Amino acid sequence: MRKIPEIFGSMVFNESVMKERLPKDTYKALKRTREQGEPLDPQVANIVANAMKEWAVEKGVTHFTHWFQPMTGITAEKHDSFIYPVENGKVIMEFSGKELIKGEPDASSFPSGGLRATFEARGYTAWDPTSDAFIKDGTLCIPTAFCSYGGEALDKKTPLLRSMDALNKQVMRILHLFGTPANRVNTTVGPEQEYFLIDEAMYKKRKDLVYTGRTLFGAKPPKGQELEDHYFGVIKPRVSAYMKDLDEELWKLGILAKTKHNEAAPAQHELAPIFTTGNVATDGNQLTMEIMKKVASKHGLYCLLHEKPFAGVNGSGKHNNWSICTDTGINLLEPGESPEENAQFLLFLTAILEAVDKHQDLLRLSVASAGNDHRLGSSEAPPAIISVFLGDELTGILESIENKSEYDQKDAAEMNIGVDVLPKFPKDATDRNRTSPFAFTGNKFEFRMLGSTVSIACPNMILNTIVADTLCRYADRLEKAEDFNKELNHIIRHSYRDHKRIVFNGNNYAPEWVEEAKRRGLLNLESAADALPYYKHPENIELFEKYGVLSGTEIVSRCEIQLENYCKQIHIEALTMVDMIKKDILPAACAYMKDISKEAINKKQLCADISCELEETLLKKLSQLTADLYKEMEALEAAVAGAEDMQDVEQCAKYYRNPVLMQMEKTRAIADEIECNVGEKYWPYPTYGDLLFSVR
Ligand code: ADP
Ligand code: MG
Repeated sequence: MRKIPEIFGSMVFNESVMKERLPKDTYKALKRTREQGEPLDPQVANIVANAMKEWAVEKGVTHFTHWFQPMTGITAEKHDSFIYPVENGKVIMEFSGKELIKGEPDASSFPSGGLRATFEARGYTAWDPTSDAFIKDGTLCIPTAFCSYGGEALDKKTPLLRSMDALNKQVMRILHLFGTPANRVNTTVGPEQEYFLIDEAMYKKRKDLVYTGRTLFGAKPPKGQELEDHYFGVIKPRVSAYMKDLDEELWKLGILAKTKHNEAAPAQHELAPIFTTGNVATDGNQLTMEIMKKVASKHGLYCLLHEKPFAGVNGSGKHNNWSICTDTGINLLEPGESPEENAQFLLFLTAILEAVDKHQDLLRLSVASAGNDHRLGSSEAPPAIISVFLGDELTGILESIENKSEYDQKDAAEMNIGVDVLPKFPKDATDRNRTSPFAFTGNKFEFRMLGSTVSIACPNMILNTIVADTLCRYADRLEKAEDFNKELNHIIRHSYRDHKRIVFNGNNYAPEWVEEAKRRGLLNLESAADALPYYKHPENIELFEKYGVLSGTEIVSRCEIQLENYCKQIHIEALTMVDMIKKDILPAACAYMKDISKEAINKKQLCADISCELEETLLKKLSQLTADLYKEMEALEAAVAGAEDMQDVEQCAKYYRNPVLMQMEKTRAIADEIECNVGEKYWPYPTYGDLLFSVR
């Protein structure tokens, strides 16, 4: 077996391959582009493309693709071979700089929210040299951004890259004022990914899973997650073999898969990579989700990435660990050793607090989806209310700054900071609050509201932009200040005073928090249908335009796409429900009833005065339930039909939330009751028990 360090990155055209295969000058030019964002000379691109091709062809690669992330949330690729005809009916393998830099996929069928009418079929893809090219399934994949001919972003990567630039600019202004050595900053991101693993054969027997990714029916099994015996439990052999294989596939692609364990629900697991640069982490997470599914199939398993595949047990999320790091290796959210470092740390910290408080709406909508609606606020995930966990120590420090009092140290592990305007404070003593949507965890923030399927591009794009905006205003003031320290202290104090309502260190799952948050005036946007329209608010459009992250048109299109997507998802779920009821559930219940009645008639024929109490009771019960189910299903059909009358997509989304989704829940409850009363061999689908406990 090959050793891990040999396998790691073996399918990636990374820094070391570049160094080995590119002429020195080309390597240096490319490095400047990758690190400093300098434009790349077409001559240089030709040399890079050729080296990439040679490297790939040696590994048996025949095709290349521009790999991009359209608004569908998944990745897209169109493969072209390297062949180029020469004389005598022969071909050579060719790949030019032009092909590397720009592609023109026929992209008319990707969602664009009205940005690009279908007659302007072509958008173009542009190479992102900051993310390494890699080989997947015998194809050289070039990470790219995807734009319309007018230059509007049609993907998730473009605004993310723009937001990283915006943040870089503002952070650099601040670092310059502090004299911190750096040429550029990047965000660092480590997304922890949760998922379910079930038997593939069983998956295929469930139309709901196949069509919608979640179960639309399913009675609670006798055992769920109440014993809490799965979290961090021993990993079962089949799962363990899967995880081992998955790690290896990810390592080959240079993805730093690090931690794996069982999660809270049965059949639920987690994979966490080591953090890396924001856009690379985003690409890596998209790839991870794809490879998770692919490897599962090799093991006769199916990987469910839906946020709520099963009612009644925990759903899956994604924790977006986020920080800012300089090219000189300084983590800006690490409380420092020296007074200057600590002052700088506190400034970044308050900037983030202020940004989160001011832009609760944007953070909330960045994680809004039909799937995630099932998780947020249902005592398994943070509520839909945004708040920040800081821990008692940091909160104490900020409180004392606000009150101008000396911070009273509870802890011996203090750090000595001498700037007289800022108090001393003890080193990281954050406890591990698991319920907060946005938690400071010692040297980074953990945004915990993301759903498991979502691309992390949007939440990061929004986080970067709102923090850039706050820092911009701080920098404006600090650059003009006569007394830097005084102004600094003033900013921290006033910002904390004005935005501290966003800090909550208690239990976010408690019902009292909802009340408390209301008193504090925090937003509580319960569903995606409530949250998504905030995208278009004038102040949000202004914000994104100011930093060149998204134009007004791009925002409107994004908002539209996501709302439409929300409607379509629930629409498909409702139709799937109706289909399953008509074609499978009612026939199953009827077959069972038929057998029971036959049994009763047989019994009576044999012995006229025999009791048929059981048969009668069961028949009466099932007769009633099936009639009720039919009625509710008809009501559901009517509700779905009503969606046609909606005037616009915003209204339509609200309508799908209520009444359609509500009617689905009512309908499901009856079907689940029927499942509990029908013999196992009659039931057309694998049960929750089968799905959750059969992989060993
Ligand atoms: P937990 O499950 O306790 O939240 P894990 O150790 O599983 O924590 O995951 C923490 C994640 O945070 C990992 O992906 C890790 O790489 C990431 N992380 C650590 N430091 C940083 C940082 N400075 N910036 C971004 N992510 C980070
Ligand atoms: Mg976590």
